[in-house]
Amino acid sequence: MKFYSFLIKYGEIGLKGKNRYKFEDTLVNNIRLHLANYLHNFVVYKEQERVYVDINEEYNYQKILDTLKRIFGIYSISPVHKIDFTTNYKELSTTIINYVNEIYGKSEKKSFKIKTRRVNKRFPMHSDTINAELGHDVLENFKNFTVDVHNPNVLINVEIRNHINIYSEVINGAKGLPTGTSSKSLLLLSGGIDSPVAGFLIAKRGVIVEAIYFNAPPYTSDRAKDKVIKLAEILSRYTGCVKLHIVNFTDIQLEIYDKCPHDELTIIMRRLMMKISEMVAKENNCLALITGESIGQVASQTTNSIAVTNECVNMPIFRPLIGFDKEEIIKIAENIGTFNTSILPYEDCCTIFVAKHPVTNPNLEKILKSEKKLENIDDFIKIAINNIETIICKPME
Ligand code: ATP
Ligand code: MG
Repeated sequence: MKFYSFLIKYGEIGLKGKNRYKFEDTLVNNIRLHLANYLHNFVVYKEQERVYVDINEEYNYQKILDTLKRIFGIYSISPVHKIDFTTNYKELSTTIINYVNEIYGKSEKKSFKIKTRRVNKRFPMHSDTINAELGHDVLENFKNFTVDVHNPNVLINVEIRNHINIYSEVINGAKGLPTGTSSKSLLLLSGGIDSPVAGFLIAKRGVIVEAIYFNAPPYTSDRAKDKVIKLAEILSRYTGCVKLHIVNFTDIQLEIYDKCPHDELTIIMRRLMMKISEMVAKENNCLALITGESIGQVASQTTNSIAVTNECVNMPIFRPLIGFDKEEIIKIAENIGTFNTSILPYEDCCTIFVAKHPVTNPNLEKILKSEKKLENIDDFIKIAINNIETIICKPME
C-alpha cells in the first residue's frame, strides 16, 4: 500500500506547558527543512497535538522514513491511510478490509484490536459499536487474525476527524527535543570515535551544534580534514546543517613543543584548544563547549587532567560521555553511522606531538609556569583565529 500521509507523535514536547507551541512549531519547521532536501509538493502541519506530513507527489517511502527517523523531537512515525470523511459504515468497512488485506493479508497468525476515536460526531455510530462491527468484519475476512483486546500484535487505529485516518504501524523516532529549542553549543570535533557521539547526544537535547576542528598541516593531511568534514556531514543528517570551523594549530603546537616540557605537551595543547574554542564559541553565540571526554580513557582524561584543562575556560563544558565505557560509545557511533568514518586511520594533531610518557596527574601551578614561557602565544592565537576556515556541512546522499 502506498501511503501519502505520515502521522507524527512527539513525546517530551507534551511536557513543556505554555511554551509548547514553540517546540511544536520548531519541530514542524525542522521536518519541512529536512524533507525539502528532496521533496517539492508536500505539507507539514500540526493538528490536535500531532504533526502530519501529507505528500502530493511520487516519492521513495524508505527515504522519507529514514529522514523522519533522524529528526529529534519525534517520538513515533505512523504511515497513515487517509480517506475522505464518510457517514457510510459500509464504505469505512470496505476500506479497512482493503487496508488489512494489503498490509497483513498474507502474514502469519496475528492478534488484533480495532481502536476508534470518533472526534467528528457527524459519524452516526459510537466508537464502541464501530470497534465491534469492524472487528467482526475483519475476523470474517481474515483467517490469520484473532481478536486480543489487551495485548494485540496489531492495533488498527481508526480516527474519524474531518478525514478518516487509518494506521497500525508505529515506528520509533529519534526522540529528544527539536533542534533549535535550546540555543547553540560548540563541539570540539576530532576525527575520533567519541566526539561525534558527544555532539549527537547534545544535539538530541535540542541544542544547535556547531563544530571546531584543530588540524596541523603538513603534519596532518587533507585526508584527516576530509574525514572530520565527513563526520560533520553525518551529524548534519540529524541536525540540519553543521557549521564547522577549521583552525590551523600547527604554529601553536610547534611553539609549545619548542618551549614547554614534553611530558606536559598534551595538557597544554588541550588547554589552548579549549581557550581558542571558547573564543570562537563566544564569537558565534555558542553558550557552551562539548567534548567527547570520558574519565580515565587516556592520560589527558584523568579527573586531574580534566580539572586542569577546565581551569582555563569559563563557559560550561558539556561532556555527555564522561561516564561511558568505550564499548557503549562504539555502539552509539555504529547506530548513528559515524563509526566507520571515525576508524579511518588518519593522523590527528594530538597524536603527532604526543610525548612518550605524558603526565597523568598534572599540577596546575607547574602547568601555568610552563605556559609563561609561551610569551607570544596571544599573537599566535590571534593569527589562528583570523585564519579560520568555516564550512557549512550538509547531509550528503
Ligand atoms: P575522540 O575519539 O573524540 O577523538 P579521544 O578518545 O581521541 O576522543 P582525546 O584525543 O583526548 O580523546 O580528545 C578528547 C576530546 O578533545 C575529544 O573528544 C574532542 O572533543 C577534543 N579534541 C581532541 N582532538 C581534537 C581536535 N584535533 N580538534 C577538535 N577537538 C579535538
Ligand atoms: Mg582523538
